Amino acid sequence: KRIGNSLDQETPAVRFHDVGGLDNLKEIIRMKIVKPFINPGLFDRFRKKTGGGILLFGPPGCGKTYIAKATAGECNAKFIPVHITDILDPYLGMSSQNIKDIFANARAKKPCILFFDEIDTVGYNRSKLSSEHMRPIVDHLLAEIEGIDSSTDKLLIIGATNMPWDVDSAFKRPGRFDKTVFVPPPDEAARISIFKLKLAGRPVETIDYELLAKATELYSGADIDNVVEVATENVIHEILSSGKERPISMKDLSDAITSTKPSTIEW
Ligand code: ATP
Repeated sequence: KRIGNSLDQETPAVRFHDVGGLDNLKEIIRMKIVKPFINPGLFDRFRKKTGGGILLFGPPGCGKTYIAKATAGECNAKFIPVHITDILDPYLGMSSQNIKDIFANARAKKPCILFFDEIDTVGYNRSKLSSEHMRPIVDHLLAEIEGIDSSTDKLLIIGATNMPWDVDSAFKRPGRFDKTVFVPPPDEAARISIFKLKLAGRPVETIDYELLAKATELYSGADIDNVVEVATENVIHEILSSGKERPISMKDLSDAITSTKPSTIEW
C-alpha cells in the first residue's frame, strides 16, 4: 500500500521563515519539538520530559500542513503525511496491517515526522463511523504512538484537524497528542508577510503590502497564495497575447482579490 506521497517523504525544503505569521506557534514547536529533536542531550541532562505530539487545529488553508512540513525542515527530518484512507480498510485485519506498515515505514525512514491529517476522523466521537469498528483501530494506533521513544526513535508525530471537538479524547492524553494548539487565520501583519513570501522573486511594481493585507480580511494563507497565482496568471496571459512584458502591479493584485473570496468566513 502506498503511504503518503513519495516526494513528501524527502526532507522538506520549507523552513519556519517560509511560514508567514504564527510566531507563537513557531515558538511552541521550537521548544516542544525542534530543540529536543536536535539537542536531546540537554533535555536528558535536565531530566526534562520530552515526547508526545502536537495537535494543530484551525480553519482550512491556514498553514497546519505547511508548518508541520516546516517543522520537519527545521529538524532536518523527513515528512510523512498519513491520511485516514491510508489506515482504514473494510477489513479490520488490513487496517491493523496498515498501521503496522505506517510505523515500520516511519522507523525505516527516521529521522522523520509522521503527520496525521484529519485525525478527527479516527475515533469514537463520530457517529457516522461505527464505534465498534473503530475501537481496535484506535487502540492499535495509540499503542504505536505510545511505543515511540522520541529521543531514541527520532520519530515525531503531529496531528491536524478542522474539528478539534470531534477528536477522540483518548488521543489527547499525555504521551499522545498532548498539546493542542490553535492555528488561526492570519491577522493583518501575518497577511503582509504571507503576501511578501508569495510575491518574493516575481517581477513586481511597487507594492503596498499594507493595503493588500487590509483588503484581505478573513483570507487564509491558501487564499492569499491563490490571489497571487491568479494575478500572476492574468499578467502572463496578457504578456503572451500582447508580446509586451511588464511586472505584476497593485491593480493586478486588487483585481485578483475582487475576483476571489475569503474561505475562513464561517470559522
Ligand atoms: P487543511 O485543514 O485544509 O488541511 P491546512 O491548514 O493544512 O489546511 P495548508 O495545507 O498548510 O493548510 O496550507 C495550504 C497552502 O496555503 C500552503 O501550501 C501554503 O502555500 C499556503 N499557506 C497557508 N498558510 C500559510 C502561512 N501562514 N504562510 C505561508 N503560506 C501559507
